[in-house]
Amino acid sequence: MRDDNCIFCKIAAGEIPSATLYEDDDFRVILDLGPASKGHALILPKEHYRNLFDLDDELAAKVMVLAKKMVNQLKDVLGCDGYNIVQNNEEVAGQTVFHFHMHLIPRYEGDQVGLGWKMGELTETDKEEILMKLKK
Ligand code: AMP
Ligand code: ZN
Repeated sequence: MRDDNCIFCKIAAGEIPSATLYEDDDFRVILDLGPASKGHALILPKEHYRNLFDLDDELAAKVMVLAKKMVNQLKDVLGCDGYNIVQNNEEVAGQTVFHFHMHLIPRYEGDQVGLGWKMGELTETDKEEILMKLKK
């Protein structure tokens, strides 16, 4: 599966050059061109899936194993203090490139990377509604 209008399909296939950190039959891992921090990388499947809603089950499992391998290697190379794994699905969630990708964002003590949210409170109504609807 491939989308001829998709830039990440072209990068994953090696048709557009990228700073490739790792490649296998299923994935290419590249440095993000607009990094949140030094070493910000993206895992791209070679096949086109719009996002997690569509991703093949086997690839979904493989991508987390690869993320683990990459962050373990990169934390030593970069000397970072932690990692955020971020994965955006649909525009409302911040997705701008509609080919599934996983962000590997190194974190450094004192960095200004702005990830996070204002904590709310789980209400009884929300909890009951969600649990009830999910059981149907
Ligand atoms: P998202 O907002 O989750 O869809 O993330 C898209 C990411 O792709 C952003 O972090 C961009 O900086 C990055 N990006 C866009 N085009 C390229 C490119 N040609 N090469 C590398 N990274 C890119
Ligand atoms: Zn694509």
